[in-house]
Amino acid sequence: MDCLFCKIINGEIPSKKIYEDEKVYAFYDISPIAPVHFLVIPKEHISCASDITPENSAVIAHVFEVIAHLAKELKLENGYRVITNNGDDAGQTVKHIHFHVIAGKQMGWSAEQGA
Ligand code: 5GP
Ligand code: ZN
Repeated sequence: MDCLFCKIINGEIPSKKIYEDEKVYAFYDISPIAPVHFLVIPKEHISCASDITPENSAVIAHVFEVIAHLAKELKLENGYRVITNNGDDAGQTVKHIHFHVIAGKQMGWSAEQGA
C-alpha cells in the first residue's frame, strides 16, 4: 500500500523516532507547529477516525496510554493538546490515522487553528 506513514513505520522513510512497541509508533512531526510536536500512530493501517470500529479500537486506547507515558517522559507537565484531523475539511493530509501531540506554549482555541 502506498502510505507515507506505513513507510515510516517500516523504515523505508526515515523519521525521528520517540517510541515504538508492537502496536504503536511515535515520531517528531517534520514541520512542527509548536515547540513540541510529535505524532503517535497505530502500526495497523487505519485511514482515519471515521474508520475506527469495535474490531480495531483497542489500539486507539493504547495510543492514548502511550501519549500519557510520553507526556511524563518528556515532562509536559504544563499541558499538551492531542489532535486528530479527520477528512478533507479538517485538513487531513496523510490518510493513516495519527494523533498530533503539541506542547510547549500557551494555546488558544479556534476551529481555524490547531495551536
Ligand atoms: P495532517 O495534516 O494529516 O493532520 O497531519 C500530517 C502531518 O504529518 C503534518 O503535520 C506533517 O507535517 C507531517 N508529515 C508529513 N510528511 C511527513 C514526513 O515525511 N515525516 C514526518 N516526520 N512528518 C510528516
Ligand atoms: Zn498506512
